[in-house]
Amino acid sequence: MEERYNSYSKYIRETFGERVQKISVDGGFTCPNRDGSKGRGGCTYCNNETFNPTHTSAKKSVREQLEEGIAFFEPKYKTQKYLAYFQAYTNTYDTIEHLADLYNQALSHSKVIGLVVSTRPDAINIKVVELLSELAKENYVVVELGIESTINKSLKLINRCHTFQDTIDAYELLKDKGIHLGGHLIIGLQGEGSDDFIEHAKQVSKLPIEFLKLHQLQIIKGTVMAKQFSVNPEKFNLFTVDDYVREVVSFLGHLRSDIVLERFSSESPRDMLIAPKWGGLKNFEITEKIRKLLKTENIFQACNR
Ligand code: SF4
Repeated sequence: MEERYNSYSKYIRETFGERVQKISVDGGFTCPNRDGSKGRGGCTYCNNETFNPTHTSAKKSVREQLEEGIAFFEPKYKTQKYLAYFQAYTNTYDTIEHLADLYNQALSHSKVIGLVVSTRPDAINIKVVELLSELAKENYVVVELGIESTINKSLKLINRCHTFQDTIDAYELLKDKGIHLGGHLIIGLQGEGSDDFIEHAKQVSKLPIEFLKLHQLQIIKGTVMAKQFSVNPEKFNLFTVDDYVREVVSFLGHLRSDIVLERFSSESPRDMLIAPKWGGLKNFEITEKIRKLLKTENIFQACNR
């Protein structure tokens, strides 16, 4: 089928010429929106129950985690290379010395060709940018920022404890430093509708990003949002699969043409997910629905810009 958007798999093929697998590593970080420096309790959709302040000392080293991840994937895909994905919590929120140690541990593995570092916009500063841009001289380095929304009212409602201007400022610091830049966005926050999603597409198109991940809003057990949902479910306009697919297709029509779509949805563990339940559909099945609707509606990425 003709590709009507920039897919991540094509980008990876063209960039590396072969399959590259991300291996998640937990660097034992916390989050400024949990420890009180920005806020307490975290973002309303974030699962606080999995947060264990003592796990830092108990967990395995970055090297051990990578070895285990590679041992898992290697028998399946013999030739692939790996990216160390610092995914959990805020992966730039520590001293520069400790960050350098963790990132270098990952990069010292012979099969690891780069880093993907996920973080909050307000956890980016000059020193972090200097460290990552130095590493990017010899390695493939990605920074992913949690944008989540471009509307400050929504960011406040979900207790992000940063504004969209913080996101813009963080990308300003990060751009043109040899670091590949990505972001993620939640589609369907309380109070947001179709026009807001189109506005998100227009606003993120102004950011110096190469990649974007979209996630549908999900209500996860153990979160502040789960409590809010149980009291006032009418305040949440959770999508059916088909409605979500329609919103994403409309979003793509307004998105800058060169941005690579890394994913369209998120699959939370079934036992953790309260709503929306989409009959266990996998991400690739949702992507397929998006592809089909793009074709039916004759929409291409950026066709409505
Ligand atoms: S979503 Fe990220 S920024 Fe928000 S509380 Fe959870 S770890 Fe912190």
